[in-house]
Amino acid sequence: MKAAIYPGSFDPMTYGHLDIIRRAAEIFDELTVSVLNNKGKSPLFSVEERVKILQEATKELPNVKVDSFSGLLVDYAKEKDVHVIIRGLRAITDFEYELQGAQTNRILSEGKLDTMFLTTSLEYAYLSSSSVKEIASFHGDITQFVPEFVAQLVYEKYGHTAK
Ligand code: ADP
Repeated sequence: MKAAIYPGSFDPMTYGHLDIIRRAAEIFDELTVSVLNNKGKSPLFSVEERVKILQEATKELPNVKVDSFSGLLVDYAKEKDVHVIIRGLRAITDFEYELQGAQTNRILSEGKLDTMFLTTSLEYAYLSSSSVKEIASFHGDITQFVPEFVAQLVYEKYGHTAK
């Protein structure tokens, strides 16, 4: 069975993430989308909230599982016995950072963990969780960037009522 892990912050999940999830789920038999519990960042949504959002958004995709992890991705992948990591590439600005992560994981895993990149669909090329948060904080319209139920949750975090 071909399995892969798509790790990320997903704070919150956007249509850009969902596009990568859908496409990766067609390539692999099983895809685990896993929320990184990164102590260094102060997220808008807790890990549990982010997991719930992803579960709701992927409930129609039978081969997609949602999980969370902390610590090193190589250790997590080893524990799951998965050898492929999925990452999304938007613009050239993502490239340097992603290349570094991919090389580091290959070295740390002694060549056992590879990273596959899916390039963003053009309509989501400029979409990021941080821009969604920034727009929502000023009560701008984020409904074209995230599913409706996610938009409401984001607005609630900023003390706005539904748009
Ligand atoms: P990170 O894991 O870097 O903290 P994210 O949760 O935002 O950040 O992203 C997880 C993965 O999804 C990364 O590989 C990122 O490049 C990718 N990604 C984020 N937004 C998009 C998008 N709009 N289109 C394609 N890939 C994306």
